[in-house]
Amino acid sequence: MIPLLKKRSSEQVLYFLALFGFPLAFFFHFAIKQDPRFFINLAAALFCLILYFFYWGKRLSAYQAEHNFKSQDIFESRNLVTAEIAAETKAIAALEDKIALLAKLKDLTELLGQCLYTLDTSKMLTNEAHRLIAAGKGSEATVILYLFHAKTGEFGISSSQKGLNRVSIKSKQGDAFDRWVVKTLQPLLVEDSRGDYRFDVEKIAGEDSRVVGSLISVPLVVGQRTLGILRVDHPREKFFTTDDLRFLAAIADLAAVAVENAQLYERAEQLAIFDGLTNLYQRRYLMGRIAQEISRHVRRQESLAFLMMDLDKFKDYNDRFGHVAGDIVLKTAAMAMTDYFSHIPGSLVARYGGEEFCVLLPDCSKTKAAELAEGLREKIAGQTIFLRRERTRVTISIGVAAFPQDGRDKDELIAQADQSLYRAKEQGRNRVCYV
Ligand code: GH3
Ligand code: MG
Ligand code: MG
Repeated sequence: MIPLLKKRSSEQVLYFLALFGFPLAFFFHFAIKQDPRFFINLAAALFCLILYFFYWGKRLSAYQAEHNFKSQDIFESRNLVTAEIAAETKAIAALEDKIALLAKLKDLTELLGQCLYTLDTSKMLTNEAHRLIAAGKGSEATVILYLFHAKTGEFGISSSQKGLNRVSIKSKQGDAFDRWVVKTLQPLLVEDSRGDYRFDVEKIAGEDSRVVGSLISVPLVVGQRTLGILRVDHPREKFFTTDDLRFLAAIADLAAVAVENAQLYERAEQLAIFDGLTNLYQRRYLMGRIAQEISRHVRRQESLAFLMMDLDKFKDYNDRFGHVAGDIVLKTAAMAMTDYFSHIPGSLVARYGGEEFCVLLPDCSKTKAAELAEGLREKIAGQTIFLRRERTRVTISIGVAAFPQDGRDKDELIAQADQSLYRAKEQGRNRVCYV
C-alpha cells in the first residue's frame, strides 16, 4: 500500500508541476519583465491572506477547544448517568428483594391469622420459619420456638421443626445461647459456635448431643412482655448471614403478636368456659354438654345421671361470716366436688349459679348416681372449714335424676333433678332425694 501511495504522490507532484509549476514560472518571468510592482501587490495580497488564515486558525482552535470541552463534559455526564443507572439498578434489585420479603411476611401473617390456639400458632410458625429461612439453603437446619407458659411462666419448647436428619432436641428448657437471648433481649448470630468467645462451648456441648455449628436467635417481645424466643440452628458453621437474622427478627415480630393473640384467645375461652371463683365449668358450657351427652346416650341406649346440688342455709353463713368467707366456702366445696368425681370417667362438675352446683355422670344408672351423691354429701358434711379461728361446716342437699327414666330431654332432666333437690330441702336439708 505505502509504495503505491508514494508512487501515486510522486506522479501527483509531476502533474502539479506540469499543471501549475510551468505556467507559474512562465507567468513570473513575464510579470517581472512587464511590471515590477507586481511583487508589491503580491506581497500585500499574501499578507492579507496570511492575516485571513491566522484569523481563521484562531477561530478554529477556539472552536476545537470548545468542542473538546463539550465532549469532555458529555463524557463526564455519560459517566455520571452510567453510575446513576448502576445505583438505580442496585436499588431496584434491593427493592425487589424487599417486595419479595414483604410478600412472604404477608403470607405468613395470613397463615398466622388462621390459627386460634398457641399450639397451632407455634406449629405454623416453626414450619414457616423453616420453609422461609432454612429449607431454601438445605434441609439440616432446626427451628425451635421456646415460649414462657402463659399460666406457670415456665420456659420451654412450644414447637420445633427439624431438618431431614430429625435430630432430637435434649435441652427442652433451652441452652446457653437461648438464655443469652432471654437475658439480653437482643438478636443473636453465632457464625461458629466453637469459636465464639461469648459462650462456654464445652458446657453447651454437654447440654445437648445435637451438633450446632451456627445459629440465629431472636426474642419474641410484645410491649414489656417477653413471650419467648425463635431460634434456627444448623450443624455447619457460617450457615446464616445477617440478612437471615434480620428476616428472622421480622418473623419474630409477627410471631410475638400472633402468640399473644392466641394466649389472649385461650384466656378468653377459659373465662367463657370456666367459672372465675370455683374454676368449675360454667352453666352455659354444661348445657351444651348435657345436650350432646343425651343424643349420644340415645344412640347407645345407656343411662345418664344428673345431680343438682345446693349449699344449705348459705345465706346465714354469709350473714354470719361475710361474703369473702362465703367465697372461701364455695371454693372449698367446689374443690371437694372436683376431687370426689375425679375418679369417675367422663364426669363433669359445674357451677350452676350462686351456691348451686351440678354434676353430669355419663354411662351411670340412677342407683349408682344416688350412691355417689350420698358419698359426696357425707364428705362435705364431714369437712371442717376454719373461719376466723372458728370451726365451721357446710352441708349440701342433692337432687338426683336420670335419663331416660326421669326426663327425655335436657330441660325435663334438669327440672326433675331440681324438684328432687327442692324435696331434699323440704325434708330438712343435708340429704339426697330422687324419685
Ligand atoms: P337454702 O338452704 O334454702 O338453699 O338456703 P340458702 O340460704 O342457701 O338459700 P338462698 O337462695 O336464700 O341464699 C343463697 C345465698 O347464696 C344468697 C347469696 O348471698 C349467696 N351467694 C350466691 N352467690 C354467692 C357468691 O358467689 N359468693 C358468696 N359469698 N355468696 C353467694
Ligand atoms: Mg340456692
Ligand atoms: Mg342454698
